[in-house]
Amino acid sequence: MLPLSILELAQKIRNLPGMGAKSSQKLALDLLQSKQEDFDDLMEAIKNSREKTFFCKQCGFFAEGHLCNICSNSSRNQSQICIVEKEIEVISLEKSESYRGVYHVLKKLISPLDNVFAENTTITALIEDRLMKLTKQGNQIELILKIDHLVSITRMAQGLPLYYNPETLDVATVTRALEDRRVI
Ligand SMILES: [Zn+2]
Repeated sequence: MLPLSILELAQKIRNLPGMGAKSSQKLALDLLQSKQEDFDDLMEAIKNSREKTFFCKQCGFFAEGHLCNICSNSSRNQSQICIVEKEIEVISLEKSESYRGVYHVLKKLISPLDNVFAENTTITALIEDRLMKLTKQGNQIELILKIDHLVSITRMAQGLPLYYNPETLDVATVTRALEDRRVI
């Protein structure tokens, strides 16, 4: 009953994660009925954010430049690194306003059964770039895992602080620690 172009728009919206058929169609119709100015502003904002946003070279969170707002904030403790799977978890942890360290976004969790190995995550970047640099500067590093791989557990944060001896810090150690999360 709806014109093809509207159906196509609704279908494109539905392709986005978390969008159902009804809500996609409603959003498509709302967009079409919005004021031209509001519509243009929205399109501009989408285009703008897409062009200007990158991933932080240090932690993997969203950034407009080389570093994100968290990594470039000198009042944050750069030696306290909270490891999370996805960018969205950084946002929810930041809402608590109690954490003063920085983050590392893995993007994917190591899961050999699903063919996801250490090299498919950002774990090597964490070890080789960040931790080695901090270690050389003589910092005591604290890694906090905020990862919950088990779907049956709905609480996200199972905090496990891990203190590493800089002498023994290597990819295998941290990879093992991350794999150990399965038995948390
Ligand atoms: Zn960052």
